[in-house]
Amino acid sequence: MSNKSTLPTVAYFSMEYAIDVSMRTYAGGLGILAGDYLKGAKDYNYPLIGIGIKWKQGYTDQFVDKDNKVYDSYKNYDYNHLKDTKVKVKVKIYDQDVTCKVWLLEKFNTAPLYLLDTDLPENDNRWITANLYGGFEDSRLAQEIVLGIGGIKTLRALNIKVDIYHFNEGHALFAGFELIREKMETGLSFNEAVKKSREEIVFTTHTPIIEGNESHSIMRMLSIGANNGFTIEELASLGGVPFNMTVGALRLSKISNAVAQLHKETANDMWKNIKNRSNIIGITNAIHIKTWVDPDMIKAAEDFNKTELWNNHIKNKKKLMAFVKERTGIQLKEDSLLIGFSRRAAPYKRSNLIFKNSNIIDPLLNEGKIQIVFSGKAHPLDDTGKHIIEELVSFSKKYPNSVVFLQNYDMEIGRILTQGSDVWLNNPRRPLEASGTSGMKAAMNGVLNLSILDGWWPEACKDGINGWQFGDGMESDDTEFIDKHDSDALYEVLTHKVIPTFYSDRDKWISMMKESILSTKDYFSVKRMLEEYYSKMYEK
Ligand SMILES: *Cc1c(COP(=O)(O)O)cnc(C)c1O
Repeated sequence: MSNKSTLPTVAYFSMEYAIDVSMRTYAGGLGILAGDYLKGAKDYNYPLIGIGIKWKQGYTDQFVDKDNKVYDSYKNYDYNHLKDTKVKVKVKIYDQDVTCKVWLLEKFNTAPLYLLDTDLPENDNRWITANLYGGFEDSRLAQEIVLGIGGIKTLRALNIKVDIYHFNEGHALFAGFELIREKMETGLSFNEAVKKSREEIVFTTHTPIIEGNESHSIMRMLSIGANNGFTIEELASLGGVPFNMTVGALRLSKISNAVAQLHKETANDMWKNIKNRSNIIGITNAIHIKTWVDPDMIKAAEDFNKTELWNNHIKNKKKLMAFVKERTGIQLKEDSLLIGFSRRAAPYKRSNLIFKNSNIIDPLLNEGKIQIVFSGKAHPLDDTGKHIIEELVSFSKKYPNSVVFLQNYDMEIGRILTQGSDVWLNNPRRPLEASGTSGMKAAMNGVLNLSILDGWWPEACKDGINGWQFGDGMESDDTEFIDKHDSDALYEVLTHKVIPTFYSDRDKWISMMKESILSTKDYFSVKRMLEEYYSKMYEK
């Protein structure tokens, strides 16, 4: 793959891109993946461009008030690193023309990223691109029309020749609808156009949580115009009834991928009853190292300089401690084991698992044997998620010197926490974590993973050598049973392995840090991921 000029040109469609903390175009892991991918494409000179949306208010700024209540806050953001391409395209929503202005990101060293924006005086519907994941049904459909149909029109208006259209998640599916419509305009039937379009579409599926795979009422789709001229039967032949975006994308792609090897099994099983779908292969996620990893840590690991490795880690731990002090007033201890945990607040991620048995956890926290820094956001419309955050905040009040909650999780917190913690805790209910990338950031920074064998970790874990597993890959539908099983396993590994190694065998700890870095830095680099996407998904 040395001559990149012969590679197919790829248009990557994603609802979100995490490029920089100052850009309000992301919510979480999906955006982190997309942003890292575009940066890698730029670094390694791949012919790839991104299509996304310029979210005026971004996702949510989320805080907790004096009474422990989570609240969301929105403001309009300035994007002063975007160039006006002078291109405008039109899409139809409720039979009305909506104009989308096209901006080009010019900073932060990414592959070209075009962002669509409906916040224009000529639009009645200026709100469409206001809030990322801000609404359900009609407002989400409108956003997806802008991304998909507007995105294809943007490529045509800019005269960019594309070989492959890559949909990151089902949100981008309407781009496929527009490809079909274009072909029908040249005289093809719907079925012929589907067949031809499929040859140029690839799809990445993400969440194994069934509700996370968006579906829409076909009647709503018709009324808003998301059918793009197709009949009810034609729509149903792709996405079923109700219309499932993931199912539609699985049927409208030549090949699909899951985002880790275990997720490949989960996804194939999850969609096994869907006929006429593309095959789902596994391409494990990866990260853009320059964005997330302290280069001094990689260098010290490569030189196997134990003193440097430890001193650099302490430098990063002190940065995290200073950050915590500034945000919360709490002074953490440099000598005490620091556990980091930041996740979207969703029940399957089990943020509270470590608190399950207070007989075990109370003394560890009260005596300062461990300290835990949490962060995370709930979706603004998710009361269960907000309750999880409120519970974490109440734990931080119960253990005021050893449990911290950092409000308003973002890329900056993500970076500081995955560089400055000693241990990175991850305890989803298996197999519901598709991949996870925060653990990769941690691993390459010499922060030891302590994780359930879910997502990417089964591919990387050498237990007791580059981190730890707990739970032995056990799965059960009985949540009470599995939560008890996994929390017992967590306590066992924490008290018998992690804590003794940290306090009594520093030499082994530092060797594990080195192993953690060296065993992950190549395979979980976005460079490998790009090579796999090009060779397994994009090339004929
Ligand atoms: C890395 C990162 C994520 C993704 O991490 P997961 O392991 O999938 O939870 C999400 N949000 C932010 C801000 C991050 O930095």
